[in-house]
Amino acid sequence: MSDLPNTRAKLHMINISQAWQEIYRRIPQPTISTCTLTEALGRFTAVDIQSDIDSPPFDKSLVDGFAIRIDDLQSNPSLLINEVVHAGQTPTQPVKTGSATQIMTGAPIPSGTQAVVMIEDCTVNLATNTVVVDNTTVTLGSHIMRQGKSLSCGDVVITAGSKIRPVEIGLLAEVGCAEVPVTTQPNVAIICTGDELVDVDQHPQAGQIRNSNEALLISLVTASGGNVIPLGIGRDNELELSDKIQQGLQYDVLLLSGGVSMGEKDLVPALLQQAHVTEVFHKVQLKPGKPLWFGQAANTQQPTLVFGLPGNPVSSLVCYMLLVAPMIRAYQQGAREVNIQGDSLAELTAPYTLRGDRPTYHPGRLDWISGKWSVTPLTWSGSADQQTLAQANCLVFFQPPQREYDVGEQISVLPFPW
Ligand code: AMP
Ligand code: MG
Repeated sequence: MSDLPNTRAKLHMINISQAWQEIYRRIPQPTISTCTLTEALGRFTAVDIQSDIDSPPFDKSLVDGFAIRIDDLQSNPSLLINEVVHAGQTPTQPVKTGSATQIMTGAPIPSGTQAVVMIEDCTVNLATNTVVVDNTTVTLGSHIMRQGKSLSCGDVVITAGSKIRPVEIGLLAEVGCAEVPVTTQPNVAIICTGDELVDVDQHPQAGQIRNSNEALLISLVTASGGNVIPLGIGRDNELELSDKIQQGLQYDVLLLSGGVSMGEKDLVPALLQQAHVTEVFHKVQLKPGKPLWFGQAANTQQPTLVFGLPGNPVSSLVCYMLLVAPMIRAYQQGAREVNIQGDSLAELTAPYTLRGDRPTYHPGRLDWISGKWSVTPLTWSGSADQQTLAQANCLVFFQPPQREYDVGEQISVLPFPW
């Protein structure tokens, strides 16, 4: 360890907004790739998407019923049924005075049609092949959706940089976008460090714990739209960890967990420095998550953004939600300013004592109670407590200075996005 750089000198601790600014300005502009429609969920559009059709592409019936002429309703005669037009078919005859065409939902309306009447408002006589319209209050154009009513050919239906949710997938399908121009996902390598870690399928022996961070980080990165490359456990020795770090530096982003504090085997900052990753900050005014390390690799074409996350799972999650998730989003959406601390407010249901001078994010339960959002900070046993974390659906944000927070105070919350 003697020839490793000394990274223990106390550095100025930056705040969360400054930390974000440092990350934000290092995020490259997104590049374009394409994927199939089914692969597009959760990704971001790279260009404006235009429709190649009018929607609907023809005047269509919105109900099952009869296409009629309004003038015929005055005398209320029996109308001769011309034909039946199902969805997918096209009419062969116009609707002339004294006649009607039976039509199904989604079918193109025949020429001459002035309105469509619901089948429920008609009496059909099969023997004479006629129909009488019982509801004579039908107005011009009723139950007809005109061609291009919802959108026109050439319209931009989704702008560049939009997140593709299930509802965008449906729209993309309608406008014929089978190959979707999307921004490239960042490749995110993950290394979890620690001699105490064993794989999830192992039973921990004395002094050991399972590597839960890897599974947590894989699912977080996947939910953020990143492409995950898990590199497994990095042991707390220089040779092995340096080798893993070299592998991790081949990707756009490298997330390490553990080994960034003040322990004797916290080798991550020194080994990153040795691997020519320039430290941008180490330690942030944040609780939990203070030991967070961030830097950028030098001398590569696409310098890897490197995060040394604290080892405890809740601390890792807080750092991830505040800084890594917005980075992965900005990587795909183009670096836009985001409000990383969120702007949702809820009413506190229990008193809370904020100790110390760091902004604190506490796992909480956000519920809609009696017409308002209420939030309860959960009783937990510290930042290794994943059992309590699994009861939570948000982080509750307590702003210094230290003080008692009272029941009923409005407080900022950061809802879990999943
Ligand atoms: P460290 O920052 O390496 O000192 O780790 C801080 C705490 O987090 C220790 O109690 C570790 O055992 C725990 N820890 C580190 N890595 C992991 C991991 N991958 N999964 C679960 N807990 C971890
Ligand atoms: Mg460790």
